[in-house]
Amino acid sequence: MFDDIQHRLSDALGRFKVRGKLTEANMQEGLRAVRTALLEADVNYEVVQRFMKRVTEKAAGQALIKSVRPDQQIVKIVHDELIELMGEGDPHIRFEKAGPTVIMLCGLQGSGKTTTCGKLARRMLGLGRKPLMVAADLQRPAAIEQLKVLGQQLDIPVHAEDPEGTDPVEVCRRGVSQAEKLGRDTVILDTAGRLHVDDELMDQLKKIEKKVRPHQVYFVCDALTGQDAVASAGAFNAALELDGVIMTKLDGDARGGAALSVRQVTGVPIKFVGMGEKLERLDPFDPQRIVGQMLGMGDIVGLVEAAKDAVDEEEARRQQERMAKGKFDLDDFRKQIVTMKKMGSVKDLMGKIPGMNQMGSMLEGVDADAEVKRIQGIIDSMTPEERRDPHKIDISRRRRIAAGAGVEPQDVSGLVKQFDAMAAMVKSMSQMSMMDRVRMLSG
Ligand code: GDP
Repeated sequence: MFDDIQHRLSDALGRFKVRGKLTEANMQEGLRAVRTALLEADVNYEVVQRFMKRVTEKAAGQALIKSVRPDQQIVKIVHDELIELMGEGDPHIRFEKAGPTVIMLCGLQGSGKTTTCGKLARRMLGLGRKPLMVAADLQRPAAIEQLKVLGQQLDIPVHAEDPEGTDPVEVCRRGVSQAEKLGRDTVILDTAGRLHVDDELMDQLKKIEKKVRPHQVYFVCDALTGQDAVASAGAFNAALELDGVIMTKLDGDARGGAALSVRQVTGVPIKFVGMGEKLERLDPFDPQRIVGQMLGMGDIVGLVEAAKDAVDEEEARRQQERMAKGKFDLDDFRKQIVTMKKMGSVKDLMGKIPGMNQMGSMLEGVDADAEVKRIQGIIDSMTPEERRDPHKIDISRRRRIAAGAGVEPQDVSGLVKQFDAMAAMVKSMSQMSMMDRVRMLSG
């Protein structure tokens, strides 16, 4: 599985450590090889361009961790960005409180729709649901029989009609009524596919969506067909508003392009992956696992993660010690902001860092990331001496700092005031008991 992309990526990442040193030249060469590896794996061109931009920026801006080599850090960056490409896994299916939950499967012929219907029904049984399958694929002659056989294997009812002169929309509608009559709480519609996306098929599916109102619509995507699968996912999504993708045949010799591109191109999450022809071979989508298989460098990734944690912890401990002593200057303030930015969305993190709850309320209703950048810009324009003792900042210094940061002088005094309030809080906290501190921080 993913042998080809794994081979190419490991070759590409190997180029970063030529002669044990990361230079500008092997950095460029390695990045180029990563790019080629992704294109060869049939990843969408635009997706590759965006991916490379992010990896390059991150590689250039990475903080040096002494205990790991730069090339190992690049492996970790590539690993994380590949996961980011595929988005989070979410195998959760929302069930309706009243009436049967109707799930519609759609996709091209041969993508594995009928098989996936059975797999999904089996999964539903495992969740204690009572599924019923509807054979609405009147296009492929064998599909109805195939679904009936799956129904027998799973011992669940299948609603099927004579395909002659029957309208698939009506079949779906009657299937749902049948489920209600039989007290089944989940309906899975196996709709028709074509070899290619065409208007007739889309019209039929749109009609089913409009008249039967399925609660969830999933696109069954054949991983073996790479970019074609992604292009049809886009077309189906434009017509139907998909809720999720089920990626089939990932057990085969898929190159990886479909799995890596579909989320970026459609914005729709991958929910499950088909890992074989058998009914039990449907797994929740797990991007970590897939990237693990594509990269095969779990040990290096683990190493860098551990080292990063250690560095962050060390820095956090140092800062806490200073704060516990009531010491807090603009350099500490800036460090906290940089840490927050590195760790992700500023708003999410506000509550997690000592003293930052206050910052959170200061930034209420403003673009937090832009504000943080602005604050950082002001602090960066100060001399070390001014950062240690902001009260030294007089009118002329204020003007100089403001000009350097591209803000108004009153913004500089505003920041110093905010900082004073925080420093006072840190000082008073240092005199509190441990319990009071915890209470204050969680308040
Ligand atoms: P449909 O035309 O979309 O309904 O496709 P089918 O359900 O008939 O599947 C087409 C072929 O793909 C069949 O031979 C299936 O056994 C096979 N298939 C479906 N899902 C998977 C999968 O996850 N892995 C593998 N290896 N084969 C699969």
